[in-house]
Amino acid sequence: MKFARLAGLIAIGLVTLGGFFMPGYVQAQTYTSHSENITAQQYINEAGGVAKYVAPGRLRLAGRRVGCGRRPSILDPEFDTWAGAYTNPGFIIINMRYMRKENKIVQLYIYSHECGHQFRGFDEDTADAFAIRRGVRQGWLRQKGMKEVCRFISRVPGDSEHPAGTVRCRRMIVVYNDIVKRNNRSIASKKHTKRRKNQLLLGFRN
Ligand SMILES: [Zn+2]
Repeated sequence: MKFARLAGLIAIGLVTLGGFFMPGYVQAQTYTSHSENITAQQYINEAGGVAKYVAPGRLRLAGRRVGCGRRPSILDPEFDTWAGAYTNPGFIIINMRYMRKENKIVQLYIYSHECGHQFRGFDEDTADAFAIRRGVRQGWLRQKGMKEVCRFISRVPGDSEHPAGTVRCRRMIVVYNDIVKRNNRSIASKKHTKRRKNQLLLGFRN
């Protein structure tokens, strides 16, 4: 049954790359998973053999091991978008068929965004900010990667729950620049890290 694989998810984007809206998906986007207590095992059972369980901390994405606390991942090749999340109890759904088409940094951003929902709740901007902070802290997100993330998210038009991708991009750049400024200040104040190059701020275009 498809219901369990759509309801309650907090997917990263509303539409497929084709750019058309899917009515069932709008519903799924606005559904709150607080009342939808689907476990990872139930999800896998519903998926009828195509979905694969990956234990917490065991997922490899973009050549790295990624984790989200105690949350497992489920690889589902029939999931309707790149990734989604159930938060009660928490697990992250990934469609590698979508993911593989994206830049490595974008893949890490998507996973981290879904992880952000696990720890910070349903707000999209908050989940985005979580992903950006994590990326800078873990060292995989720098100026070039930030541009890739923006290029990716700008393709997503948004809906009642999700701001338009271009808006999300601008908000993420604000978060990114803020972290970089703070990092640069702390680098400047520490003599022993003098040789380290300051990170670059990302400028707005239009
Ligand atoms: Zn989201």
